[in-house]
Amino acid sequence: MNQRSRITVVGSFMTDLMSRTPRLPVAGETVMGGRFKMGPGGKGSNQAMAAARLGAQVCMAASLGTDAFGDLACQSPVNAGICTDWVKRVNTAHTRAALIIVDEVKAENMIVVAPGSNSELGPDDVDEAKQDILGSDYVLLQLEIPLETVQHGVDIAHANGVKVILNPAPGRALPDELPEKVGALTPNETQATAITGMPVNDVGSAEQAARALLGRGCRTVVMTLGSDGALAVTPESTDHVPAFKVNAIDTTGAGDAFSGARAVALAEGLPLVNSVRFANAAAALSVTKVGTSVAMPMGQEVEAFMTS
Ligand code: ADP
Repeated sequence: MNQRSRITVVGSFMTDLMSRTPRLPVAGETVMGGRFKMGPGGKGSNQAMAAARLGAQVCMAASLGTDAFGDLACQSPVNAGICTDWVKRVNTAHTRAALIIVDEVKAENMIVVAPGSNSELGPDDVDEAKQDILGSDYVLLQLEIPLETVQHGVDIAHANGVKVILNPAPGRALPDELPEKVGALTPNETQATAITGMPVNDVGSAEQAARALLGRGCRTVVMTLGSDGALAVTPESTDHVPAFKVNAIDTTGAGDAFSGARAVALAEGLPLVNSVRFANAAAALSVTKVGTSVAMPMGQEVEAFMTS
């Protein structure tokens, strides 16, 4: 990766509170956890961090509370050189928090999110970031902020010819006009089911759901399939790009590593399948470390990993 690409992320920003346990608790049960970790998270922040660590010039529009968690959440992106000019602070809501439990044997997780400040990111806030959006190679959005804010961000980018990638997470039904304005959709299997209503449990059903999404107007669907890698589908092609084999210890944030990395790869001119391979590599490295934002790999790590 040589050139420095420009990416604007309109999305969520929060504090992750995480502990690993020998297994996930069942209802009513208390399980003793291991190490406790606190750090910045949220799909927007994670994807911004992934892109910045891979060398992109990243700008974020987001909303945080004025509480201590807000200060904490903001610190790492600033340290990573991410522009936080459009990260507003509100005293009307707590900073969004995620309570994360990771099964240290199976590397599975359970997550509860208390939305707080992210609900206060409105279309006006996106307008404030307009100049950065217009100067971007790609705008990256997710669905952890109000849908009207996502739609406004997509509208601004679309009207000005700026390419958009929507990671439709968490999964939900999408307004009819959205897929057409979004060049690329990157759902995981659960999110693809939430949008289309079609079950996804193997590569064949993933392709069917992806084709249903293409039928709604977007040009590319890249569906992530966990340890099975990802499926890239366009009207003309279907490519299953396998995952890299690694010792996964925490898959939280894998989809964010993938989305951030793919935006960087596309912005730097890689063709579709190569961009997916690069994103698979970045995501594979992220699952070998504990945490979300802090687990995002650096560009040199990904390059070395792909050639090893
Ligand atoms: P999400 O985190 O949104 O649920 P996935 O679980 O589909 O997303 O993972 C996203 C990407 O992370 C996958 O496409 C793959 O590239 C990578 N990945 C996830 N789990 C593993 C794993 N166990 N080994 C290697 N790569 C993985």
